Formats: sequence, structure tokens, C-alpha cells
Amino acid sequence: MRQIDNFIAGEYTGAASGRRFDKRSPLDNRIIASIAEAGRPEIDAAVGAARAALHGEWGALSTEQRVDLLYGVADEITRRFEDFVAAEMADTGQPGHVMRHVFIPRGAANFKVFADVIKNVPAESFRMATPDGRGALNYAIRVPKGVVGVICPWNAPFMLMTWKVGPALACGNTVVVKPSEESPQTAALLGEVMNAVGIPKGVYNVVHGLGPDSAGEFLTRHPGVDAITFTGETRTGTAIMQAAAEGMRDVSFELGGKNAGIVFADCDFDAAVEGISRAAFLNTGQVCLGTERVYVERPIFERFVQALKARAEAVKYGRPEDHDSSYGPLISHEHRNKVLSYYRKAVELGATVVTGGGVPDVPDDLAEGAWVQPTIWTGLADDAAPVREEIFGPCCHVRPFDSEDEVVKLANDTPYGLATTIWTTNLARAHRVAARVDVGITWVNSWFLRDLRTPFGGSKQSGIGREGGVHSLEFYTETRNVCVKL
Ligand code: NAD
Repeated sequence: MRQIDNFIAGEYTGAASGRRFDKRSPLDNRIIASIAEAGRPEIDAAVGAARAALHGEWGALSTEQRVDLLYGVADEITRRFEDFVAAEMADTGQPGHVMRHVFIPRGAANFKVFADVIKNVPAESFRMATPDGRGALNYAIRVPKGVVGVICPWNAPFMLMTWKVGPALACGNTVVVKPSEESPQTAALLGEVMNAVGIPKGVYNVVHGLGPDSAGEFLTRHPGVDAITFTGETRTGTAIMQAAAEGMRDVSFELGGKNAGIVFADCDFDAAVEGISRAAFLNTGQVCLGTERVYVERPIFERFVQALKARAEAVKYGRPEDHDSSYGPLISHEHRNKVLSYYRKAVELGATVVTGGGVPDVPDDLAEGAWVQPTIWTGLADDAAPVREEIFGPCCHVRPFDSEDEVVKLANDTPYGLATTIWTTNLARAHRVAARVDVGITWVNSWFLRDLRTPFGGSKQSGIGREGGVHSLEFYTETRNVCVKL
């Protein structure tokens, strides 16, 4: 069993209280790690170390020096690639090929991309007229926000954490990261990378623990934290926003979704089935951008449902290291209880269960894991809870539609506004519908295709702010205007 400690001022330390909590494997429920739980003294120490680094060696570096160091971090992650893959597989139980091809490479890219952004961003400048005819020159400079609190979820832990830490450090901030209690290992491992590369002590700190009345709340309420970036549930975002109101701290929120997939009859049928099946079942449906509501134009509805069913039934349950495994467990039994409660509710509300709906038969050594079947429903009312609420599981409700106006209305009938995916070969229609669906990210004939320079974030209850490329600078820097009379 691994011992995972906090990482404060470049050192791994336990907690003064001696408190620890267990991390269980989602595969088979075995305890795989013991985690030090940070209390107020550790949060104080981490925030203090982050502040000291800001005023010390880190704050004195030039942009070029920071950029070089961040390139070093990306290279060191790549050198230790298999360690990160193993740590993330252990925490999440998801197939190794997803770690190797998506999540861990994206973690390294998050440092390089934002190093490039900060190196290349131009300064804004306006020359103005003055009554004496000599004029004045305005220019904007960007300075770091300060100490940034980073609160992360468990569904793609390393990718989502570095998506925040990369730009925060590129902009010259220091960070205190609170990974999810369900996925502490890669954040802890990144401390070793920081030390190996020579990132000054205190720039990157990690505190472990839970949310309310634990490390998450202590960090977000800490007056020494200048800004908070959070990815997680909308409900948690509300609590964090209340904490951030004290002291008027800025927030960046990437929250929940109930995303629509829209499939027109003129789509490339096989590509649409493949795309929607990935959007519904990848990472066992634990992707914020995933599709839990699918709208299919009536002429292809029945055929589409049957093709999606075949995909759902073809998943291969297995351990992450098994080469032919394509599908892992949910993150925990607690989360499985939530997902299964929606599976039951859907039946109670009269859904037709096209496939799945329960717990699969898995080999004996996995029987204690948090497994659920990929599940497809039809026939639910538009206001049924499984159609309206984020389940965050491998399930979707498929419903027919008859017109463009109707499907836009259906897609927008939600308090969320994160992402949508549209499948059609009619490009004019794709542009039209994309402009009308009220979300932060629309994919046409694709899903989860990410260019890290583009704005990423949600509207309505799916988030506040945009990150990605230069958009991240809006949150991770303070812009100062300097006006020089000529
Ligand atoms: P969660 O909100 O339960 O937890 C996220 C983090 O917040 C954890 O580290 C947790 O310990 C911490 N936390 C909980 N309560 C807190 C409090 N009161 N104060 C401070 N910290 C607190 O979310 P989760 O279950 O880990 O992740 C799944 C959710 O994340 C889903 O809703 C999903 O849609 C969302 N998500 C959104 C995006 C996006 O980019 N929009 C990406 C991934 C996940």
C-alpha cells in the first residue's frame, strides 16, 4: 500500500494531526493508498510557502526563464510517462490506452502550450491625443494574480489539474492544489517532477483531503489565497463561490453539464454512431463534456438506437493493463450508488431499457469493483430526472425529433450549458444550429477534439469564465494599464 503525503515547500510531509484516509481501488475495492489529510496548519504552511516563493526566487525569474522551466516540467513528465500512467490507472481504474493516448500526454502538453502562450502574447497599446498636441501612450502589462487555489475533480485528474497549474505557473503565479480525495496520486507525483526540474520550492504545493470542513474548504476560505480555479460539480461551485466572496477573490469555474448530442438524418451514420458512443461511454461516462441526451432525427431513429446498442454491448470490461480492455469501473461505490439510483429511477418513470441498466457480470477478482453496464434508454418524458440531471455515468437517453427548431429547443431546455455535438453533412445547417445552442463548446461531426489554444468553458450553470490559450491569461493575470504622457 502506498503512502501519499502533502507536498509543501518542496517536501513531502504528513499532517500534524496524524490524520490519514484510505484510497480504494475502483476495480476491486482494495485499499491501495493511505493519504495524509491536511488540516488548517498544513493549509497555512502551503499558502505561506506559495506566498514566499512569489516574493522570492520564482517572482524574480524572467518570462523566458519560467518558460524554460515549464518546458523542463513537460519533458520530465514525458520521461516518467509510465509512472504517471500507472498512478492514474490505479486511482481511476480506466483503460491504459486512454491514459497513454489522451490523459497523460495532455498533462505534459498543458505545460508546453501555456509556456508558448505567455512567450508570444502581445502587449496591448493605445496612443491617444492630448490637448497640448503631444499625446500619450497607454500600454498594458500583465502581472500574476498571486497565490492560486486549485481544486480538482477525479474524472481525468492529471489532465484537469495541469490544465490549471500549467497556465497559472506560466503567468508567474504560485499554486496550492487540492486534488480529489478519489485521485490523489498524480498530483503528488508531480511534486517529484517539480523538484527534479528545479522549480523553486513553494511554487507548486499539494494538500490532500476532502471538501467541506476539510482541506478543500480550508483552502478556499484561506485569506492568503488570491484566486480560486475549480473544476467539479455545480453544487460545489456554489459553496466555493460563497467562500471566495469573503475577500473578493476571483474565481474560474468549470462545472457540470447535461450535454446534448444532435444527430440529423443526413449524417455520416457510422461516424455519428461512433462519435455518440464515445461521447456517452468513454471513461465510463465520467466526462464533463459527455453526452447524456441524444436527439436523433426520426427517419434514422430506430436504426441509430440499434447501432448504439451494439456499441454499448461490445465494451470489454477489464483491468487497465489488459490490452483488450476498453471499459473501466466508476470511480467509487458511492458514485455507483448514485448512477444506479438513476438506472432504477429511469425504469420507475417508464423508460424502455434498450440495453444495460444494472451491474455486469465480471470476473471474480473484479466482483467487488464499482462496475456498471453502459445503459441506453428511450421513451422518457423531457422533464424526467434522468433526462434533466447530470448523472455522470455511462448512460444516455435517446429521443426522436422532427425539425431543426424543435431540436434546438430541446437541446437548450436545461440549466446547463457546457458542450454539444452535432452530426450532419449539411454544413449550413451545422453552422446555424451551432450558433443557436447555448453552450460554451460545440463540436460538429466530432467530439472532444481539443485545440488547447481555443476558449474552453461553460455557460449558464456549467461555469464561469473561459480558459485555454490567451483566454487563460484573463484569469491567471491581473492587467495593469500604464499611461505615459509624451
Ligand atoms: P466535486 O464537486 O464533488 O469535487 C471536486 C473537488 O471539490 C474535490 O477535490 C472535492 O474534494 C472538492 N470539494 C468538495 N466540496 C468542497 C467545498 N465545499 N469546498 C472546497 N472544495 C470542495 O466534483 P467531482 O465529483 O470530483 O467531479 C465530477 C464533477 O465535475 C461533475 O459534475 C463534472 O461535470 C464536473 N467536471 C466539469 C468539467 C468541466 O470542464 N466543466 C471537467 C471535469 C469534471
